[in-house]
Amino acid sequence: MTPSTPLISVVAPIFNEGGGVDRFVARLGEVLTGAGLAYELVLVDDGSTDDSWDRVSRLALLDARVRGVQLSRNFGKEAAVLAGLEHAAGDAVVVIDSDLQHPPAAIPEMVRRWREGAHVVEAIKCSRTGQGLIGRVGGRLFNRAFTGLTRVDLVDATDFRLLSRPALQALLRMPEHSSFFRGTSSWIGFRRSTVEVEIDQREGGRTRWTLRSLFRLAVNGITSFSSAPLHLVTLVGLAFAAFAVLLGAQTLIRWIDGGSVEGFPTVILLLLVMGTFVLLGLGVIGEYLARIHEEVRGRPRYLVQERSGPLETAVPEQWVRADP
Ligand code: UDP
Ligand code: MG
Repeated sequence: MTPSTPLISVVAPIFNEGGGVDRFVARLGEVLTGAGLAYELVLVDDGSTDDSWDRVSRLALLDARVRGVQLSRNFGKEAAVLAGLEHAAGDAVVVIDSDLQHPPAAIPEMVRRWREGAHVVEAIKCSRTGQGLIGRVGGRLFNRAFTGLTRVDLVDATDFRLLSRPALQALLRMPEHSSFFRGTSSWIGFRRSTVEVEIDQREGGRTRWTLRSLFRLAVNGITSFSSAPLHLVTLVGLAFAAFAVLLGAQTLIRWIDGGSVEGFPTVILLLLVMGTFVLLGLGVIGEYLARIHEEVRGRPRYLVQERSGPLETAVPEQWVRADP
């Protein structure tokens, strides 16, 4: 391989994938070598409790193109991806799930698009065979709502993306604590291109997403890209104000006329509706406040416990401190 061959970094987050790690690395090697690409693999172990890290270290010993980064605990997929991106040294970076749900076979095509001038190449789903009905419908609804609220197009998007060095540099300039890769990589703009992929069935293991973590992801995504919920609170407040004037006038007129205000149920209903709305409004404000709190504390977004493989990194100084 000539020195001018561009280096492709493949970043994959790993959380308790066990034997899947070997399968994944073997498959990637096959595809990338087959396509004649120079590559490095940045495997980020997101605090796995199984033998994933042992496997990563062993692979890093066997193959100089494999590098491992172990986070000090489970920081979540977004942080793991970020860690990988900051460690990647390539001219282009591909982010891919390590559970083989994202077909590595699509990478050569993504690289081709990059060579043709695209800075961000997104793999979009043409089907969701690997997901149940609820996941499918839920994903679709979330994407629609998210796109509507934030104008960041996520419909059928995946985390399987290629970023050029300039796009990556732009992405890494975002200081957000709870970064949301799909959103931030759209927000940066840059010349984009898409390739269609089939999302495969998981090979071994099971999905780490619980309803709760999906909800957190949705709330994070929305609060980091839109203040629409806050405006909504204002709007509903205005509507209530109009309603209050009308109902207040009616009540006063009745009182002056000497008619008693009957309707205990009305009072209860009003209390319930108002109470619900006030609490919801507070909740919305609270979510934003929590985000601000998180950002203001300015803690590192992940901590590295150990590395294996070749050490050259593109990591900013402040993240390296945590090393033993
Ligand atoms: N993952 C991670 N940290 C987590 C959860 C998941 O690094 O806390 C990784 C996981 O190993 C996989 C990818 O993120 O490579 C996607 O996870 P999963 O397959 O569970 O999500 P899904 O494909 O269902 O969206
Ligand atoms: Mg998966």
